[in-house]
Amino acid sequence: MTGWVPTTCMRCAVGCGHLQRGADLGHGVDSVRGNAEHPTNRGLACQRGVSETSDPEGTFLTRPLVRRDGELVPTTWDVALGKVTERLRTARERDPDSVAVLGSGQQTNEAAYALGKAARGAIGTRYYDANTTLCMASAVTAYYDAFGSDAPPCSYEDIPEAGSHVVWGANPAVAHPVLFRWVTDSARDGELIVVDPVATESAEAADVHVQPDPGADLTLARAVLAHVVETGRVDEAFVEAHTAGFDDACDDLPGVDAACETAGVERADVEALASALDAKTLLYWGMGVNQSTRGTATSGA
Ligand code: SF4
Repeated sequence: MTGWVPTTCMRCAVGCGHLQRGADLGHGVDSVRGNAEHPTNRGLACQRGVSETSDPEGTFLTRPLVRRDGELVPTTWDVALGKVTERLRTARERDPDSVAVLGSGQQTNEAAYALGKAARGAIGTRYYDANTTLCMASAVTAYYDAFGSDAPPCSYEDIPEAGSHVVWGANPAVAHPVLFRWVTDSARDGELIVVDPVATESAEAADVHVQPDPGADLTLARAVLAHVVETGRVDEAFVEAHTAGFDDACDDLPGVDAACETAGVERADVEALASALDAKTLLYWGMGVNQSTRGTATSGA
């Protein structure tokens, strides 16, 4: 058995710190546990992160495979990397833009950075996506418009500071349990509202579960804005300093009662969401809210 080695869990984007111990086989991960020193998870680790990472029998792939006569067969790293290099060189000589490089949200920031350097600097392609635009093209455009940056502006450190937490169309109790622990710990002194047509595990843990009809997110969000405007809770100074087109947006708002009916919620649900916004709120959302129904078809980016 090797000693405990600190590393990052690659199973989801929460980025927990793990300690892993190698098996005696020379490969294989015998044991996995949360790293108490790591600021994201402070020793916690979810079942998925542990069970999908540990491999005491060393059955995960340890050697590269190449296809010969239609069959994938084990080979050496020199042969595998040689083939990749040769194919990339040929494609690059033809046209660097004939190569597209796609990364994944499961990479660490460091790996994404290195891959970007390889894609743009070594291969020279302009078709590189580390994950962000591939996964969130319409959201990234909105982030740029709203915040001038292509990512949500808050960090884990904001979670304990929040007075209310709104989880919209996501089920972090199952998908990101370590992050959800941050949220529920903070919500003990505040409030947790979950918006989801489905009665999820996260909704079960919430103080308020708002259950709109499927597909009614936008109507519900507009009902909340209409209610905020109607009850005079708009932060006029902020709107003046940081937004454009607010009056146009307001002119187009639905009546609150009509929007509630369309979304399949009660006015009390809209009031609960509007009140949550009165506190220092953090809003967490899932891909169903992030993405446009028409994907990149209408993106100007
Ligand atoms: S929440 Fe679970 S799967 Fe995600 S990074 Fe942490 S241990 Fe890994």
